[in-house]
Amino acid sequence: MLILNYEAAIYSRGGISDRASRLPHYNRSVYSAELLDHFQNPRNPGEVESPDSCARSQNPVCGDILELTLKLEGRRVSDIRFRAKGCVPAMACGSAITELIKGKNVEDARQVRREELLRRVGGLPQASTHAGHLAMDTLAMLLRGL
Ligand SMILES: [Zn+2]
Repeated sequence: MLILNYEAAIYSRGGISDRASRLPHYNRSVYSAELLDHFQNPRNPGEVESPDSCARSQNPVCGDILELTLKLEGRRVSDIRFRAKGCVPAMACGSAITELIKGKNVEDARQVRREELLRRVGGLPQASTHAGHLAMDTLAMLLRGL
């Protein structure tokens, strides 16, 4: 129930209207402690006010949606926030990517690799690698043109 409540909170805070009808189905034991921590205590949730860039992407296979918004101070990412809908790893990766990027210069942010994200969430099970790709794809869109 904790998980369902959390997802409901993310939905309402994020304001994504097309709420998934499927229930989350997962086995907690397959996820690392770091991943579950990001899921249960998300870093930088929500939306940046008057963002300098925003990006949204969806995994066509399982329907996960990730939205990132970013605020710059000069070339430095002063704020970055995420909204996510979908599986537990997708939400955790959204949280972790904001933590990795916040405070970096745009040029350094472009250098962040998927391996760093995976380390940050303590690895992803084989069935969840799509969540890492979703986060990295959305990040690339977010930084494009900055
Ligand atoms: Zn997923």
